[in-house]
Amino acid sequence: METLIEAARRGHSHETAKRTAELEGVPLKLLIDGLADGTLVIPSNSSRRIQRPVAIGRGVTVKINANIGSSADRESAEDELEKLRVAVAYGAHTVMDLSTGPEWKSILERILRSSPVPLGTVPLYQVFGQAIRDGRDVADVNVDEIFSAVEDHCRMGVDYLTLHCGVTARAVSLLKSQGRKLGIVSRGGSLMAEWMEKNGRENPLFEHFERLVEILHEYDVTFSLGDGLRPGCLADASDQAQIEELISLGELQRISHDAGVQVMIEGPGHVPMHKIEENIRMQKSLCNNAPFYVLGPIVTDIAPGYDHITSAIGGAMAAWYGADFLCYVTPAEHLRLPDAEDVRIGVISARIAAHAADIARGTPGAMDPDDRMAEARDRFDWEAQYGLSMDPITARRERDEALPSDSDVCSMCGHLCALKTTKRAFEDKREKD
Ligand code: SF4
Repeated sequence: METLIEAARRGHSHETAKRTAELEGVPLKLLIDGLADGTLVIPSNSSRRIQRPVAIGRGVTVKINANIGSSADRESAEDELEKLRVAVAYGAHTVMDLSTGPEWKSILERILRSSPVPLGTVPLYQVFGQAIRDGRDVADVNVDEIFSAVEDHCRMGVDYLTLHCGVTARAVSLLKSQGRKLGIVSRGGSLMAEWMEKNGRENPLFEHFERLVEILHEYDVTFSLGDGLRPGCLADASDQAQIEELISLGELQRISHDAGVQVMIEGPGHVPMHKIEENIRMQKSLCNNAPFYVLGPIVTDIAPGYDHITSAIGGAMAAWYGADFLCYVTPAEHLRLPDAEDVRIGVISARIAAHAADIARGTPGAMDPDDRMAEARDRFDWEAQYGLSMDPITARRERDEALPSDSDVCSMCGHLCALKTTKRAFEDKREKD
């Protein structure tokens, strides 16, 4: 089977690339060139037809992902389907199902059937999660179990997989020798490190990377090379372990891309604002300009309950400096499993960050809705304003709840509406002249 990259290399217009170009409103050649040189991905499992495929990477708008998924403590397929519905309705370009409970497979199947957007997963959760539920030691998981879980996810139709291939023995040893304030905060990364430490072995996802490439090639599934050693607090940002992992991911990106399998690189995490630019530049240079998928970054550690804001600040900066894909963070981050309302807030927050960055990057057409909003405000055309809003329901409700007597304005300034005053000042005067 020919993958999207292989088709692009011979200049062939693959059906998925054509549909994506139409939806993105960009020339097909831009996508074909990006696929061929690895600066752009279109996550799309060859075994299913995605209603709304997306391009992530150079030359297209910044995309956002919403993580959903149950935990063993709170497991309900209905809840997760509702989160999926909300995420897509509010504008998530992709969704990741991070379910870790015993019913993960049936939940994933239902999400795959219902999702109009590309879907990502983390197969390591299932392998290690099942072992722990069965009362086995993480170290007793054998290598074939890991690879067969990856194959299961590909066969089920998942479009991109987070795989923590860069958690190498050298990176873990650097983490231990340099020391960290907060250890490993990635679930997959910490479980893999436990397996490696207890077995005294290299990460099999790194050691047998070609085997992974073969599996993903068969289904044309995209790698999301996971940052298993990402910093979990500002103090650990850009430490030796993080950079060592990034160097490995760059090497693996090259191997995978050469073999015709698409790759994104995942990035931090918790990063203070003054280190965001260097993180993006390092990734682009070490990973051959592959699309960069950042998890936040969160720019301060002391705002639990508001991490949709800390991550939107970091995400906007990261995307302005060149990150291509933002993983949303919800107000529930660090506190509990998000519910559907958290999903809504997280999606809107990430969309604000992505859109602000698109404007700053000069993405063609990015400013158009903002210009139309200014014009609608000038006309007091509230219906147009709601229609242009990222969240029309909230915008309408907020105004309706406090309509002033002079209802073509809003209760912010009421009868002192500055825009009305401006019109009186300049337009009435002009009429007299
Ligand atoms: S009342 Fe104030 S905030 Fe509301 S439309 Fe007029 S100028 Fe804008």
